Amino acid sequence: MHTLLLSAQDPETPARAAELIRQGELVAIPTETVYGLGANGLDETAVAKIFEAKGRPQDNPLILHICGPEQIELFCHHIPQTAYQLAEAFWPGPLTMVLPARSNVPRRTTGGLDTVAVRCPDSDVTRKIIRLSGVPIAAPSANLSGKPSTTTAEHVLHDHDGKIAAIVDGGHCRVGVESTIVDLTEERPRLLRPGGITPEQLTAVLGDLVVDKAVTAQIDKDAVVKAPGMKYRHYAPSEPVVIVSGSREKAAEYIRRHFVPGDRVLCFQEELPLYEGCNPLSYGQEADVNTLSAGLFAALRELDDPSIHQVYARCPVGDGIAYAVQNRLKKAAAFHIVDAEAEV
Ligand code: AMP
Ligand code: MG
Repeated sequence: MHTLLLSAQDPETPARAAELIRQGELVAIPTETVYGLGANGLDETAVAKIFEAKGRPQDNPLILHICGPEQIELFCHHIPQTAYQLAEAFWPGPLTMVLPARSNVPRRTTGGLDTVAVRCPDSDVTRKIIRLSGVPIAAPSANLSGKPSTTTAEHVLHDHDGKIAAIVDGGHCRVGVESTIVDLTEERPRLLRPGGITPEQLTAVLGDLVVDKAVTAQIDKDAVVKAPGMKYRHYAPSEPVVIVSGSREKAAEYIRRHFVPGDRVLCFQEELPLYEGCNPLSYGQEADVNTLSAGLFAALRELDDPSIHQVYARCPVGDGIAYAVQNRLKKAAAFHIVDAEAEV
């Protein structure tokens, strides 16, 4: 199959992409978070192609991308008022809500669950594609399963050239990490995955938020969890990653002491001079955490190279979007963290 590259700027792109979606094909779509691998979310056969292209486990559900709050009730029932309050505050934007699924949503889309995740992305071209296709677009991140997410059209082409019908090129993804996921099916709202909408922003609207244990700790692969995606190895380059915490100086001391040729250092731009001779790669500025979230996956993809032995990574501290960056990096490192302050 030849994979078409369609520009988001081309006025014909929305109609062409929507037609492919209607025909049951796979189309990669740009969003403010990461690129999604999209298909008609109501068509089981089309959805099955997503799982096949990604090598995604069947029980890892997809997110339904919709045009706005008015479409929630088409695919969900028992919708609490809080869902509309969150949509009003954060849509279009990087927030996904988990709600009870209507029977028109195939269980292949929901990974066999009776709940479904819905989100309205902040990308004009993608919302236009959804509207024109007349169906919700099911889309997980467009990377191969387990690998770092795709934040440019080139990343998607690298993983899926010749396997999918088209890629809509909308440039670099602004946020760079996947959406925040909040589960609204229980008595208390539960954060299943941190992202561009922070826990503080959610709490301001909801007044209450439980943080699921899958956000902060490694989950056993046989465990029963609310967000099945959280238990799989994720975002990881081919070699082991270890996070080195502590002050800039102590961390540099630790890393330089353990560094051997073939290792790489993933650090903040401000730290580059400390790692001369250690082949450092910066993923953004510590002083501007948005650059770190926007640059993380491109850096992890660059480090996905079998000739690399080990990666020492620096992770931002604090809340806000830094919380999401910590979550992705810790997962990439399989929660392997050393404290340089504690080392002598
Ligand atoms: P991705 O877009 O690749 O990050 O994958 C979608 C994420 O949404 C996965 O981590 C899923 O576990 C999560 N998700 C989708 N639907 C549900 C659901 N019904 N309940 C809980 N988590 C969900
Ligand atoms: Mg993903």
